[in-house]
Amino acid sequence: MWGVNSGSLEKNLIEKYGGVTAEGIVESALNKVRMIEEMDYGNLVISIKSSDVLMCVKAHELIAERTDYPLHVGITEAGTLISGTIKSSVGLGIILHKGIGDTIRVSLTGDPLEEVKAAKTILRSLGLKRGGVEVISCPTCGRTRIDLISLANQVEDMVSAYDHLDIKVAVMGCVVNGPGEAREADIGIAGGIGEGLLIKKGEVIRKVPEEELLSALQEELMKMQ
Ligand code: SF4
Repeated sequence: MWGVNSGSLEKNLIEKYGGVTAEGIVESALNKVRMIEEMDYGNLVISIKSSDVLMCVKAHELIAERTDYPLHVGITEAGTLISGTIKSSVGLGIILHKGIGDTIRVSLTGDPLEEVKAAKTILRSLGLKRGGVEVISCPTCGRTRIDLISLANQVEDMVSAYDHLDIKVAVMGCVVNGPGEAREADIGIAGGIGEGLLIKKGEVIRKVPEEELLSALQEELMKMQ
C-alpha cells in the first residue's frame, strides 16, 4: 500500500497550490505511483489521508477520476471516540456513497476494537455490509423508568458474539410505547419497573423480570442461530 498524508505533503506542492490542498495531495500520490510503476511494480493500493474531512472527500473524488488503483479510505487523526467516529462517519459516508473506496480504516484515539465497531457500523449503515446484529435503542424520555443507557451498552456488548446473525435488536425504555416503537426490530426488550417485556416485530412474547431482560434476550438470540 502506498500512502500520502496531508501532514507530510512536499513543500513544492504546498507552494504550487498555496497551502495543503486536495489537488496537492492527489498530485503527490500520483507522482509516487508513477515512480513505482517505472520500477515495473503495479500491485498497488493507494491511501490518501487528511484529518480535514472535506479536503479528504475532495481528494478522493479527484483521485478516483484519475486512477483505477484500489483506494484505501480513511480520515486520519480523526480524534477521540465521539468526535473521531463522527468525522469518520461523515467523511467515509460521503466517499463510499459515491462508490469510491475499496478498503477502509477508522482511526480513533481509543481502543482499536472501537475502530472496528465504528467501521462495521459505517459499512452497515451504507448497506455495504450485511450480517451482524444492529442494536437500536430509544433516546429515553419521561416514561423511562430503568437505567436504559447501561442496559443498551450491555446489550451492545452481548450481541457482538452473534455477528453471524443478520438481525435488528431493539432496546426500549418503557413497556407502554416500547413494543410499538420497536416494530422494525426482529427482537427486542422493553424495560419496566420490576418487569419488562420481550418483543418480536413489535409483538409482546412474554413478560420477564427486569433483572432477567438481558439473559432472556440472549436466550432468544441463541435460538436464532
Ligand atoms: S420507548 Fe418509551 S421510554 Fe423510549 S422514547 Fe419511546 S416512550 Fe420514551
